[in-house]
Order: sequence, then C-alpha cells, then structure tokens
Amino acid sequence: MKIAVIGSGYVGLVVGACLAENGNDVTCVDKDATKVRMLQRGRIPIYEPGLEELVRRNRAEKRLTFTTNLQQGVRSSQIIFIAVGTPTGEDGSADLRHVLDVAREIGKAMNGYKVIVDKSTVPVGTSEKVRDTIKKETNHPFSVVSNPEFLKQGAAIEDFMKPDRVVIGAEDTRSAEIMKELYAPFTRTGAPIMMMDCASAELCKYAANAMLATRISFMNEVANVCEAVGADVDQVRRAVASDRRIGPAFLFPGVGYGGSCFPKDVKALLRFAASQNYDFQILKAVETVNDRQKVRLLAKLKKHFGNLKGKRIALWGLAFKPKTDDMREAPAVPLIKGLLEAGASVVAYDPEAAKVARGIFGEQIEYASKSYDAIKGADALVIVTEWNEFREPDFTRIRKLLKAPVVFDGRNIYSPEQMRSLGFTYYSIGRA
Ligand code: NAD
Repeated sequence: MKIAVIGSGYVGLVVGACLAENGNDVTCVDKDATKVRMLQRGRIPIYEPGLEELVRRNRAEKRLTFTTNLQQGVRSSQIIFIAVGTPTGEDGSADLRHVLDVAREIGKAMNGYKVIVDKSTVPVGTSEKVRDTIKKETNHPFSVVSNPEFLKQGAAIEDFMKPDRVVIGAEDTRSAEIMKELYAPFTRTGAPIMMMDCASAELCKYAANAMLATRISFMNEVANVCEAVGADVDQVRRAVASDRRIGPAFLFPGVGYGGSCFPKDVKALLRFAASQNYDFQILKAVETVNDRQKVRLLAKLKKHFGNLKGKRIALWGLAFKPKTDDMREAPAVPLIKGLLEAGASVVAYDPEAAKVARGIFGEQIEYASKSYDAIKGADALVIVTEWNEFREPDFTRIRKLLKAPVVFDGRNIYSPEQMRSLGFTYYSIGRA
C-alpha cells in the first residue's frame, strides 16, 4: 500500500519505518527541514533501540523516503497518517493546532479517495473536526479513521510490530476494510483488531494512559505510607502484584511519572471530562500525587544535608525512563531546578539524554561522559533513571569516588541491607 505519515517524531518515525518493513511504500513528512535532512542522510534524530537499523534497511530498499513536501506525500498515497504532536494547551486541554493544520493541508492536496488516519492522541470529537476541516478544502471523497497508538518509547518497534491489540475507530466499511488489511500482518500472532466507533477509539488511549498513571500514583502513595509506618514497599508490591486480578505491571514506586504522554494525557482527559461537566476526581488526585512525588527526593536531600548550598550532587539518569533520550516532563528536571535553587551544583550522567539536557540546562549543570566520572568528589549520588548499567555497579569504586558514601535511590534498584552493609547511607522510596 502507498502510505504517507505526517509528523516524523517518536511515533511517526516508528510507524513509518515499521509499515515500510512490512512491504508498504511509505513517505514520512515533517515540517522540520533540519530533521528531514538528517533522515534523508540516514541519521536518526532521536534515540530508539533498533530504529536506525530499520530506517537504514527500508531506505536502502526504497520503501521509506523523507520529505518536507506534504502535498507530494498526500498525492502519492492512499492512506495518510497524522502523527503530529498534541501538546498541552494553556487550559490543560490537548492543543489540536498541529492536527488541524495538517488536516487543512491534506484537504488542499487531495487528488482522489484517501483514508486519513488519526494516530496522534486526541480528545473525543477530533475525528469530526478533522473531517469538517478537510471537507472545507476538497470535493474528493475520503474517510477519517481513529487509530490510537499504544507503543512505548524504548520498546517502540517491538510494540508496533507485535501489538497487544490494534484499535480502529471507523465510520464506514470501505475504510474499515482498508485498515484491517493494513494491520493484518501485524496481528498474525492472534492479537485482536478491535473495530469500534471513532469516539470510543479516541477515548481508549486516554483511558489506558490514565489507568497506568493511576497505578503509579497509587503505588507511590502506598510507598509513602510504608515510609511513615516502617513497612517495606517492595514486600507489599510483590504481594499485591501476585494477585492475578492485579498483576505486576506499573506497580513500581519512584520519583513520579513523566514523559510526553502520561502527564499531558491525564491533563487532557481531566479537561475534556470537565468540558462535559464531569468531575473526574480520581485523576485529579493522580496528578496531585505525581507532582508531590517528583519533589520527594529533593526533600530527602534537603533533610539529609540540612543545607544544600555548595554541595555537589551527582545524578545518574536524566531521561524520563531508560532506553530513551526523551526528557519531556522528566522527574530529573524539577529535581535539578530544585537543587540549583538551593545552591547545590549538579553533575549528571545519562547514556543517551545528555544532549537533550544541554538544550534545557545549558551550562548550568555539568555533564559527565562516563557514569563514574560524575561521582568523583560528589557529596551524594542520586539515581533518577533506572538504566540497566546502573543496576550492578562497582560499589567499592562508588564509595571511594564519593566525598561521603551517600546514595539517594529514586528507583529502588539497590537493596537497603546490602547498601548498609557496604557502608552507605542509603535512602530509597518506601523502604526503611
Ligand atoms: P513529536 O513531537 O516527537 O513529533 C511530532 C512531529 O510532528 C515533529 O517532528 C514535528 O516537527 C512534526 N509536525 C508538527 N506539525 C507538523 C506539520 N504541520 N506538518 C508536518 N510535520 C509536523 O511527538 P510524538 O511523541 O511522536 O507524538 C505524536 C503524537 O502521538 C502525540 O499526539 C502523542 O500523544 C502520541 N503518542 C506518543 C507516544 C510516545 O511514546 N511518544 C505514544 C503514543 C502516542
């Protein structure tokens, strides 16, 4: 099939490359000329495991091309994905500006029947807005389909190639059949293609992300109670997770959720529920708990040191989670800001996100190119992101390099008993 993907960011690029891998002809479009030039030279602007290889292979096979020319992409395709950003607007709702700009451009470029697929995460009613916007620009027939994306950064290719399910909101049989055919190769292992109306499809993605955010905030509250009463959240988590009705995923306490999706999607769902006069109380609490959790580690640092002025604090991890360089809404950001405001200096190491961090903090903090370089002479080490390489470090070396053996573990990756036996003063989340 001939496909255009408008927006070549974390989602668009993965979707485009994976669709090309299955034999489709894909044109990825982006308005960012620098990004497109990089991609045309075979360089990937983001870090996502396996993506570079996938793009290289499909470019070489001439199944995957990159352009800034939206009109050309639309005209040569039957299926057009919209995968542009839907950031948080001023009032907390999803800002649909990019989606509707693209819809207008698609309308102007139409030259025959097309299926326009909304891949961006958008509130209920957006497919109608997209339909109306295109209709104003063209007399050519078209269908609008809602097809929310559930991939996780860090495992995006695997998630897209072997999805748990594919959700398709379609309002006519012609587009429904085309979408089923497009996704058939991705669902051979038995994953269902769930056909539904557009409103339900649009809500699926928000409900899923809000549920996951709720589990995280819930466990963070349990962890805080554990700290107050002297219980161990790890023991509690294991017992809770072994209940088959609950399951083990997304029950790890930490420094709060971040990333480009959970915070913005929780806000957007709250906002569009409110616009229908529905007060989504649980989600309000989820958000408040998360904001509080993001500064808990800073409070522990302040309590330990009394005064952070002049202290040198080493951070391991900057990205909002491992295997990505994404720092959108990352817990590292408020932590660093808080440390700097309190007069501490910060030296950070992250295997992938240092370049992105430089764009945020410039020279306000130091960037180490190796993990152990970051802790040389530091007053404490803080674990912010649980990259695999931090899981089993050389503790003797850490103790020698630190000015004093103090570790704040925001991801509970070390054992309190082991840390204490090695002579560390060790703080974690929800464990004595
Ligand atoms: P992103 O910011 O990484 O990428 C968006 C891209 O769209 C950018 O490259 C931007 O230049 C481009 N763009 C914006 N306006 C354009 C226009 N008019 N024409 C052409 N290109 C344009 O965003 P993302 O993380 O890929 O997210 C895209 C959407 O997918 C969002 O709605 C997001 O909520 C959703 N989503 C994201 C993830 C994720 O893990 N990142 C997962 C599932 C769904």
